[in-house]
Amino acid sequence: MTATETYDIIVVGGGIGGCFAAATAASEGVDVVQLERKPAEKGGYIACGDAIKAPRDPEKYPGPIDMDAIADDPSVLVDESIDQIEYWDEALGVKKVLPYTEHSNVIDRYEFGQRLLEQTAECGVDQHYDTVVNDVIQSEQVEGVEAIRDGEEIRYEAAVVIDAAGAQSILQDLVDFDALGGDSPTSFEKPHYTHFGSAYREIIKTEEPVDFANAIVGKPLEEMGYIWYFPRTPTEINVGLGFQMSKEPIPLADRIKRDMEEEPAFENATVAERFGQKNKLGSSIALRRPLDSMVAPGYLAVGGAAGTTHPISGKGIRGAAITGYSGGKAAADAVKAGDVSEEGLWQHNYYFYVGHGEGAKLASRDAYNIAASSDGMSVLRAIAALLPEQEMKEIVGTERKVDGLPAVASVGYGTLRNLVSHYRAGTFDELDVPLSKLYESFQGVRKTKHYVDEYQKHYENYPASRADFERWLAERNRIDQAFYDAIELDDSLRKY
Ligand SMILES: Cc1cc2nc3c(=O)[nH]c(=O)nc-3n(C[C@H](O)[C@H](O)[C@H](O)COP(=O)(O)OP(=O)(O)OC[C@H]3O[C@@H](n4cnc5c(N)ncnc54)[C@H](O)[C@@H]3O)c2cc1C
Repeated sequence: MTATETYDIIVVGGGIGGCFAAATAASEGVDVVQLERKPAEKGGYIACGDAIKAPRDPEKYPGPIDMDAIADDPSVLVDESIDQIEYWDEALGVKKVLPYTEHSNVIDRYEFGQRLLEQTAECGVDQHYDTVVNDVIQSEQVEGVEAIRDGEEIRYEAAVVIDAAGAQSILQDLVDFDALGGDSPTSFEKPHYTHFGSAYREIIKTEEPVDFANAIVGKPLEEMGYIWYFPRTPTEINVGLGFQMSKEPIPLADRIKRDMEEEPAFENATVAERFGQKNKLGSSIALRRPLDSMVAPGYLAVGGAAGTTHPISGKGIRGAAITGYSGGKAAADAVKAGDVSEEGLWQHNYYFYVGHGEGAKLASRDAYNIAASSDGMSVLRAIAALLPEQEMKEIVGTERKVDGLPAVASVGYGTLRNLVSHYRAGTFDELDVPLSKLYESFQGVRKTKHYVDEYQKHYENYPASRADFERWLAERNRIDQAFYDAIELDDSLRKY
């Protein structure tokens, strides 16, 4: 007979979202089990670019996890000197340098993950490794999961299941959301596969220190994606790339190899090892705005499973930490109040969008991503060449707002200056982008900025109660349509 274990809360996943959720819920005094398919010694070994923003800021990493203690560990924060983003388009001779207004680091993701798991255990969470969740127990609410633990079938029952299984979480295929909640339909927004990207990275060692050790570097990839170089140390670089699943797949490992062969700084570089193997990992990544609602009866999603990664600026670690915290807190409060309905769990959504506010920022900036996919890569490269650094900061999210008349005036002047110099240099001929197309797309960037502000205001008014959700959603859908129409977005690119 299958063994059954009962807890107040089950957390599926031992990544950032899972650790923040489990640690927070256990600190609220409820019984929590955390299930992770990997063995304990490989917990936290996860495909990532390893760039983290403001790791010591308690507002960005709320809850009982002691980020100062983790950041003080020299095996975790391996590069403390990152103070800028660099955008390189070598073929066009374009290099933009965007200083960070808040502190950024590159971490060793594995060591970081191990420290998180250790702290989570110290908060009183039962951690079951080698445990693969492969089914969901549900009636009108989610009531538990089934798993294979150390090769044996096991049932876990709980009042709330927290889905922290990452982007393209298997739980979202297993739960029958239509059957939840009886007569009232669930608010949970199930993502579509085109909302994801595929990403891959290698950790490489160079013979000589690179001269961009204080920067995280991004480069455009012709297949609507980007390549990154994130230095862990001056001689150890996280090199990776990603593309959208709505596009034709590309052979990721071959493509990054080709790029590295052309990069003088990587001459004679070798791939580092971990667990006796080459340190190469790939995974899917959420390239969408956070879910409209992350809760269903007896269930809530956090981190990658809730779409909390901003595709341009990363911020996936932070989004997972914030939603992990709010999911853990909401689940514990709901268990204590004896109400695990959507209304009982609603504070998870409300905190992320309004109480904390990171959700409103992530959701509104997704408009830039949508607008970008409507232009070809050549046009995007031309726009990136033209945009002054100040305006790029707004788009990649290193600065909150370009506001005030002086800033707008200087943005206009800077663009004009860049236009003249790139026109003289033949950039637009090389990209085969006519000036008329460029003008049109550039107007699109400005229109998009207007809609980013409109989305931001609307998300700041996210409903405090489940009862007002449909009204709020109808208005948000209206903004989507108005935005798509304003930038004349092709039907096939309408993402939501
Ligand atoms: C290649 C790549 C580069 C990235 N670069 C950056 C970056 O530089 N900066 C940044 O901030 N963000 C980055 N991100 C995004 C960031 O990594 C994610 O947003 C973040 O890891 C999400 O954390 P999570 O805890 O939600 O999910 P994950 O970290 O994916 O953790 C999910 C956990 O659940 C476990 N799991 C899954 N299914 C099951 C199951 N059925 N049973 C049991 N356990 C299961 C997995 O083993 C894993 O441990 C990157 C992502 C990728 C893929």
